Amino acid sequence: MRFLSPAKINLHLEVLEKRPDGYHEVQTLLKRVDLSDEMEVHPGGQGIRLILEGEEVPPGMENLACRAASIFCRETGIPEDLEIRIRKRIPVAAGLGGGSSNAASVLAALNDLFRTGLNSHALMGMGAKLGADIPFFIFQRPALAKGKGERLTAVSMPEGLGFLLLVPPFRISTSWSYETFDRLTGGKRKTGTPLRDSYSTLADLLEVLKNDLEIPALSRYPEIGRMKEALLRQGARGALMSGSGPVTFGIFPSREKAEEARRKLVLPRDWKAEICCGL
Ligand code: ATP
Repeated sequence: MRFLSPAKINLHLEVLEKRPDGYHEVQTLLKRVDLSDEMEVHPGGQGIRLILEGEEVPPGMENLACRAASIFCRETGIPEDLEIRIRKRIPVAAGLGGGSSNAASVLAALNDLFRTGLNSHALMGMGAKLGADIPFFIFQRPALAKGKGERLTAVSMPEGLGFLLLVPPFRISTSWSYETFDRLTGGKRKTGTPLRDSYSTLADLLEVLKNDLEIPALSRYPEIGRMKEALLRQGARGALMSGSGPVTFGIFPSREKAEEARRKLVLPRDWKAEICCGL
């Protein structure tokens, strides 16, 4: 079975208090975009075998896709004899949730392949055991996520937007990002900005465009701030870093406008650009 495993971007991300279990409460607006890894799952062989192409991700059972397959098989009683292929197109440790997406896609694909008939609530429960962003990718709609990121509400957002993603040549680890956020802000507690469940125009969405994790990222990589300004100069209606970064995107009213900006934008050495649309 072949399928696509899409990336996500965060259009809003606020870090709230730190919980007794060490995680931070967050509130974030998430949207999937059509920049995707290509994946395949086939039954057979012995054990879970992973074949990787493209960007470097952990091999074998360290990989989130294999760990998701293992949980699925254990909980449904299906033999753990599978081949998983990932052709990686989503930049890794970039704030685009590629690993979580691969895990969610494997859970959904195995449910179809073996006709196990689990509903999305059950699949989201399995996914939440592995990572806070995984339930969002099973949810398959733009969402407001709270808690560690697993408490989801559907949010309507304008259709047809174009995104220009800028991919720097460095990675940011999510744990470094939260630790540095705490150090730089002194662990200040705050209540989140009130968010709605419907943003009918791009202007409405731009009002809540914000990412607290830009604080640690910009402290170490000021070039992210310079590229946000460059995106705005080339006509982006808003610009933001996604998740824990470092991928930074500009929002445009259409894909064509994003492509126009791409042609004019001068990228720093080794940076890449990707154009995509919302899903
Ligand atoms: P998030 O925003 O959810 O923290 P991210 O986009 O910053 O995620 P990912 O690309 O999901 O980062 O990778 C996070 C970590 O997970 C990396 O250290 C990576 O090596 C590991 N990982 C494990 N399996 C995968 C996978 N299938 N694809 C990508 N990364 C994976």
